[in-house]
Amino acid sequence: MKIETKCLHEGYKPGNGEPRQLPIYQSTTYTYDSTEHIGQLFDLTASGYFYTRLANPTVGAVEEKIAALEGGVGALCTSSGQAASFFAILNIMKSGDHFISAATIYGGTVNLFAVTLKKMGIECTFVDADASEEEIQKAFRPNTKAVFGETVANPALTVLDIEKFAAIAHKNGVPLIIDNTFATPVLCRPIEHGADIVIHSTTKYMDGQAVQVGGVIVDSGKFDWTNGKFPEFTEPDASYHGLVYTQAFGPAAFIVKARVQLMRDLGSSPAPQSAFLLNLGLETLAVRMEKHCRNAERIAFFLNQCEEVESVNYPWLEGSKHKELQQKYLPLGCSGVLSFVVKGGREKAVKFMDSLKLASNVVHVADIRTCVLHPASATHRQLSDEQLAAAGISPGMVRLSVGLENVDDIIEDLAQALAAAKEN
Ligand SMILES: *Cc1c(COP(=O)(O)O)cnc(C)c1O
Repeated sequence: MKIETKCLHEGYKPGNGEPRQLPIYQSTTYTYDSTEHIGQLFDLTASGYFYTRLANPTVGAVEEKIAALEGGVGALCTSSGQAASFFAILNIMKSGDHFISAATIYGGTVNLFAVTLKKMGIECTFVDADASEEEIQKAFRPNTKAVFGETVANPALTVLDIEKFAAIAHKNGVPLIIDNTFATPVLCRPIEHGADIVIHSTTKYMDGQAVQVGGVIVDSGKFDWTNGKFPEFTEPDASYHGLVYTQAFGPAAFIVKARVQLMRDLGSSPAPQSAFLLNLGLETLAVRMEKHCRNAERIAFFLNQCEEVESVNYPWLEGSKHKELQQKYLPLGCSGVLSFVVKGGREKAVKFMDSLKLASNVVHVADIRTCVLHPASATHRQLSDEQLAAAGISPGMVRLSVGLENVDDIIEDLAQALAAAKEN
């Protein structure tokens, strides 16, 4: 099946006389005829549902769909994208371990990696994603256990050279984890380029309608956990009577371990209702992504010609720094998110934002409705103009998430707001 078909048909296949739409199994628990059967479920020797923190049929159908979309052997839905990043790291590492991440990633992930994981004894070194293999190699240590990056970085909108990162990770015997939130499997499937683990904030395009917060981890099933660096996968787990994950679950060792250890102990599970809403979004993901891209391309082209605009950042634009990487990894387009700098700095950008009539001013991105954010007065508010410059954010920068409205209506709104800002 092609991706559009998978979006609609993977994960849930109703039998004769069963509901056409995925049912919401709003139940915390499941009944069994014998105590022995329940004992086998706890030992992981029988498969089946027993408690919704660990697995639920509605959530399970969505996991199966996302695994199919990314080309993985299994997936685990979490209550947020943050929980997905956290679990992906913690499933591989413990106190005393180290990993490497591209520096251009989502701000919430930077906090998780640089502050909270550090408190837990897991250290992260941030590297320039555009650095050479030799430069990045210097960041490796004997205790390095993974490499992390974002396909299209939020909010920098840089494109990651996934194959370069996969080659460096594999040369060092560690997995590559890719946050594929902005690209979605419609525009890029990182596993096809060598990624071992893919994560998402499903809150963004996968949902698309701004109705649920969620995350997901997908396991490619391709990484060799038996290479000696990952004893938690190859040595007996005392909490399951000495079970060895690589022996019991083969290529699905990573994703089963994440579920039965981390979801069991930390419990960041999504509600069945949220999984149902996420599935509604996934059904239309392929058609939505195509339209987001086409609209954003028209708008990037328009903004690039506006005299009120200093610069436009969108990898698809001719002459953009990552045009080649975009053509290689995102040939169908690079999502609906772009950023641009309004001439005249902070004051003009604020006036522009406040003059918009159609686009809404929200702390969200990747919605079906066009929305904008002014980083200097929202997400990066605490920073001085000098600090903003160091973070690569100009005071006049606006992040624009292009929605599915008629593109001429969006352009008209942007044009009138730019004119109003100029007059002021
Ligand atoms: C939003 C986002 C996250 C965090 O996800 P939540 O669902 O908000 O917890 C992680 N990575 C990227 C790229 C994001 O845009």
